[in-house]
Amino acid sequence: MMDGAETPLRYPHTSPPVEGDAVEVADGVLWMRLPLPMKLDHVNVYALDEGESWTVIDTGFDSRRTRAVWEKLLAGPLGGKPVSRVFVTHHHPDHVGLAGWFQAAQGAELWTTRTAWLFARMLMLDEQAVPTEETLNFWRSCGMDADVLENRATERPFNFADIVAPMPLGFNRIKQGDVMRIGGRDWDVHIGNGHAPEHATFWSRDDNLVISGDQIIASISPNVGVYATEPGADPLADWLEACERLQTLARPDHLVLAGHNLPFTGLPTRMRQLIDNHHGALNRLMAHLETPRTAGECFAPLFKREIGEGEYGLALVEAKAHVSHLYQLDKIARRRREDGAWLYYVGG
Ligand SMILES: [Zn+2]
Repeated sequence: MMDGAETPLRYPHTSPPVEGDAVEVADGVLWMRLPLPMKLDHVNVYALDEGESWTVIDTGFDSRRTRAVWEKLLAGPLGGKPVSRVFVTHHHPDHVGLAGWFQAAQGAELWTTRTAWLFARMLMLDEQAVPTEETLNFWRSCGMDADVLENRATERPFNFADIVAPMPLGFNRIKQGDVMRIGGRDWDVHIGNGHAPEHATFWSRDDNLVISGDQIIASISPNVGVYATEPGADPLADWLEACERLQTLARPDHLVLAGHNLPFTGLPTRMRQLIDNHHGALNRLMAHLETPRTAGECFAPLFKREIGEGEYGLALVEAKAHVSHLYQLDKIARRRREDGAWLYYVGG
């Protein structure tokens, strides 16, 4: 039997919905976009028709602009029907940002994984005016560029509370193996990992739809990073495990509705690519570490392009994830430099 791994990716909708408008990608399933003030300048969200109301999947950042776009969507393409449920795929702010607003303003129920909810609510409460000592030490240990570190040490850091609406107490848990009724379909819940812990994906039993959040995206490889919250984590191992598990579910005709970029078919090919990308990067990294280097000195073999200032933070945590993975597999060794940075190297 063909596994479809050679089926190319296809994009049935070549142009995304314009701001405040929706595209119907399947019967009763609307695709919408919300703006993000970053290099990746949008997040996809979906609304599934429940008859008298809508179920919304992911929400965008909490900003005045995003709320205004939602007001326009609710009055326009959503036809003034209320949002009764919000499903959040993972805890990142472009996905969870307005969940609390839907709960408080519309009385919507929040459904997400326990880890996503705990992480989001914990980070909401962790507001800092400047980076904590632990964060600075973590950046130092990654070999963060000295100028970047000096600037960041005195600046207000990225704070969840700045772009996520307050989250009321209480949520509904979804977990691996659940079957959820959404938009007239039964969906199997499969949990991903690596980009975000306990990331929910939804696989329709009744047609070819997959709602994948950031676990599976076309043309960009989702960021896999290590953060100061868990400096010894190996999210790349989690990522590869999840990809290999989800790969066994993938069909060439699946229409994947992801958190960013265009809906696509050809999922078996995409799963292969997502796995291969990291193995390729790890091989290049091994060669690069014939000379001892910090995570911050590993951008070239991993990204094969110049990393701009706006991407530096994500690149650093991704580089750290890759060296950590090799280190935890015992493929490389490490030692501390005088300034606290870990130097990683082949052999030892
Ligand atoms: Zn995202």
